[in-house]
Amino acid sequence: MSDNVRDTVILGTGCAGLTAAIYAARANLKPLVLEGHEPGGQLSITTLVENFPGWPEGIQGPELIERMKLQATRFGAEIQMGHLASVDLSKHPFSLNLGKETVHTRTLIIASGASARWLGLPSEQALIGHGVSSCATCDGFFFSGKEIAVVGGGDSAMEEALFLTRFATKVTLIHRREQFRSSHIMLERAMAHDKIKFLTNTAVLEVMGVERKEVSGLRLRNTLNNDESTLPVSAMFLGIGHDPNAKMFRGQIDLDDDGYIRTTDQVFTKVAGVFACGDVQDRRYRQAITAAGSGCAAALEVEKYLEEHGH
Ligand code: NAP
Repeated sequence: MSDNVRDTVILGTGCAGLTAAIYAARANLKPLVLEGHEPGGQLSITTLVENFPGWPEGIQGPELIERMKLQATRFGAEIQMGHLASVDLSKHPFSLNLGKETVHTRTLIIASGASARWLGLPSEQALIGHGVSSCATCDGFFFSGKEIAVVGGGDSAMEEALFLTRFATKVTLIHRREQFRSSHIMLERAMAHDKIKFLTNTAVLEVMGVERKEVSGLRLRNTLNNDESTLPVSAMFLGIGHDPNAKMFRGQIDLDDDGYIRTTDQVFTKVAGVFACGDVQDRRYRQAITAAGSGCAAALEVEKYLEEHGH
């Protein structure tokens, strides 16, 4: 069996996974990198990244990811589409069930990231793809010349609102309270934009248009006085954060109350040989550069582990 056992498998092709892949490949570990249903992670659905060191003019998220992939494959990383059906971390080597095949590996780097959150309203779920979206860069274009709502009060919401001004005649940013989570610079930019209007202390009760399969407006509630109102819009974009993709590890490694992987010394899980990096374990910083940093750390720990435990 040893011939079929990988030295390391990396789950995820976001910033963390690809940085781990670059380091592991350069250490000659020939990593297998599994790409899931959101290839490239969150950077691949973002626009201009202005805070990644080395790009003074900024770089488009998808281009940054593409360049990381090229860098990883250049040194021998193998990137393969693969959805993890189940995993067994109870014995060495670990086994990863990908449906059609099972992969065995001595070490595992979990870099499966986090996925966009939804409000959870039945009307919202019914209209996903018909005016409800969590990806402005993917779907904004379809609402050229229309009025759009964005929900959220963090950097994602500001970024989406600013991006959508390219297409929309008006963007209403709806936030459930008065204070914002976003950085000052993003908030100021959004507030200064003449196409963006703010609606604070407001919750979405219902997305209207289910019967016609097309968003026609939102039913809203003022969270201070419970007054209800409607806002005619053609689309609603969610920018309300993300949930970690770690459910499949529940019971095998420790997760916190929100489902993030618990790590010690940045990347160690409670299972020897299993490391986690990036947004699946980081609820504090969640930046491209911190994800890349922890991906590097995970790959260095894999190297050290294999030196100590044998290839
Ligand atoms: P976030 O900072 O967690 O903000 C999520 C926002 O959505 C919060 O304002 C929250 O409201 C609201 N929200 C959450 N659940 C909600 C619900 N069920 N209904 C209504 N509102 C809800 O998430 P994020 O904006 O995705 O940002 C995550 C991280 O990525 C941050 O560290 C951010 O700096 C970073 N990021 C950076 C950039 C950039 O620099 N260009 C761009 C995007 C993201 P409350 O405030 O009331 O909790």
